[in-house]
Amino acid sequence: MEKIYDIAILGAGPGGMTAAIYARRAGLDVLVIEKGLVGGALNATYEVANYTGFEKISGKELAERMYNHTKSLNTEYIFDEVKKVTVDSEIKIIECFKGKYLARTLILGFGASVRKLNLENERSFVGRGISYCATCDGKLFEDKTVAIVGGGNTALEDCFFLSNLAKKVYLIHRREEFRGDAILIEQIKQKENIELVLNSYISKLVGDGNLQSIDVTDKVTNKTKKINLDGLFVCIGRGPDTGMIDGDIKLSENGYIETDEYMRTNFEGVYAIGDIRCTPLRQIVTACSDGAIAATKAFEYIKITKASQKK
Ligand code: NAP
Repeated sequence: MEKIYDIAILGAGPGGMTAAIYARRAGLDVLVIEKGLVGGALNATYEVANYTGFEKISGKELAERMYNHTKSLNTEYIFDEVKKVTVDSEIKIIECFKGKYLARTLILGFGASVRKLNLENERSFVGRGISYCATCDGKLFEDKTVAIVGGGNTALEDCFFLSNLAKKVYLIHRREEFRGDAILIEQIKQKENIELVLNSYISKLVGDGNLQSIDVTDKVTNKTKKINLDGLFVCIGRGPDTGMIDGDIKLSENGYIETDEYMRTNFEGVYAIGDIRCTPLRQIVTACSDGAIAATKAFEYIKITKASQKK
């Protein structure tokens, strides 16, 4: 007979790993499934400066600490990609590329994947000048000219990070005001090698094999200028990864999973946490909080369902 886990946690981001800690400490049989690196988007964060208790810590180190914490509680991990997850049955079925797993409850913490510019040739320049992760690829552009597109915290942090490596950094944003934190905006304004290109969008990617230049159009004047560069970092946010969910899970208008305050979705025993759910704030600390609540509620749900099955 196939093993039935108490909880399957899909995604080992900060929320998923926190859920694992709470669930293991409650004595539950837990399986965490992760397709990439533990820590999820943390791996793309050069420096975390707003996670309570750590004035400054690299995203990778924080991810590693969280992982070690879960392992100290003997959490079981499978590194595989989820193909399909069935949410509308009593026992949930998780189909991965290398195997199939069963669980009484599910915590969906897939996070969100990077948004693309959707420009012609974008795909062909990936790894040939275009990157979606400054922490991962920034080193390749030491003393070179790069541009970053976006106006949120990721773009601002990555811009600052790259300005310490590259010769020249253009920060291109489609509006006058940034979405990111004031403290980051101040840091950026003080760097001499950063040039702000505001109210502008990238209208064309140009290069023969590798990206060589971009056309940038000013939305106010409608004029287009060419910027020669070696690299372009696209930091325009993320979108939820819900494509593999088989079942009519309730989503918000922009595709995020709707939950109540206990992280419950519209399916019994199915919870959603972190960046994938509809939430007013997407931070490490809020993802961790979601994970703790979901694991606690899953524990209560399992206790009730197991008790009613015994009767
Ligand atoms: P975000 O906050 O959603 O910002 C995305 C940025 O990209 C926005 O400025 C947006 O412009 C712009 N944008 C979106 N689509 C675009 C397009 N097609 N073309 C050009 N520009 C486009 O995403 P994020 O910066 O990745 O941050 C995601 C979440 O993680 C946020 O909640 C953020 O606070 C959090 N985060 C926190 C930290 C930290 O606290 N250390 C670090 C990184 C991220 P508009 O402003 O005009 O919409």
